[in-house]
Amino acid sequence: MQPISYETPDRATVAIAAARQPDSLFVAGGTTVFDLMKLNVLRAKHLVDVTRLDMPALHSMKVSADTIWLGAMVRMADLATHAEIKAICPMIAQSLDLGASQQIRNMARLGGNVLQRTRCAYYREPSFAQCNRRNPGSGCAARDGHNRQHAVLGASNACIAVYPGDFPQTLIALDATVHTLASGAKVREFPFAQLHRLPGARPDIETVLQPGELIVGFSIRRGAWMRRSLYLKIRDRQSYAFALSSAAVALELTQQGIVNEARIALGGVATVPWRAHEAEAVLKASLFSEDVARRAARAAFQDATVHSDNAYKLPLGEQTLVRALLSAAALEVSV
Ligand code: SF4
Repeated sequence: MQPISYETPDRATVAIAAARQPDSLFVAGGTTVFDLMKLNVLRAKHLVDVTRLDMPALHSMKVSADTIWLGAMVRMADLATHAEIKAICPMIAQSLDLGASQQIRNMARLGGNVLQRTRCAYYREPSFAQCNRRNPGSGCAARDGHNRQHAVLGASNACIAVYPGDFPQTLIALDATVHTLASGAKVREFPFAQLHRLPGARPDIETVLQPGELIVGFSIRRGAWMRRSLYLKIRDRQSYAFALSSAAVALELTQQGIVNEARIALGGVATVPWRAHEAEAVLKASLFSEDVARRAARAAFQDATVHSDNAYKLPLGEQTLVRALLSAAALEVSV
């Protein structure tokens, strides 16, 4: 057994300094970190619990006329049941409800949710020597192994693991901004779309966060497209399973049915939360129809690459997006 030390600071500067030390990790709900430590995939020696930091922005949700603020320590369950945010943008709560069991939602925090690790079975089982994400330079067992669940978008020769989250797809579709605290309590803000790195040659470096950099929360500019939004998730079973394919869709339509704005993100098919700009371009300024939705879905997967077991993700991913778009367009919202 490996000894682990654990601290619960109340000051952010103390937490950040502690987490910058080698073999240290932030922990909040622990639903990813403790899992991976038990599997011997993460080998931290010191855990810095950030759930008790005395920093109101970390723990709060706020809705103003033009912005929604979501603190990184907010529990998934608390956001999923926030009546005002649910009414403003239904897909946020839907992605959280579909993203985990009630028990997990009661524990997991938003900051940890966006940083969850891949469920690639080779990554989570250290007896497999080949995994560039867990053991850089060792190869990728999934490329010639079982890759039914793996990515068709954003993959590299080094890694084809799929990003497992659901809620992050809504953040990327809504152009959220990430707010962090780095060394010396310096504030950094950047688009959520820049948080996760494509695997490239270094899949072990998953985000742009520096050691000890703490996510404080996410801000989202409000827009008319939020009301006509939904999250659709397709999986092997209807309870507590990761997406084979998912779509976060937000549309703004004129009374004549012209698409003023389209926000689309895909899950279960890509190595990172995936914004489908090509699909959005097909939809924008078009008269919405099933045919346009189908063209948009084809555009979303035009650069996809399949592997031995996952070619089904192309038709499934396209059909998921078509269904999500048709369902969003059919929602009754006041224009
Ligand atoms: Fe590791 Fe990525 Fe290959 Fe899975 S797909 S074995 S996580 S390198």
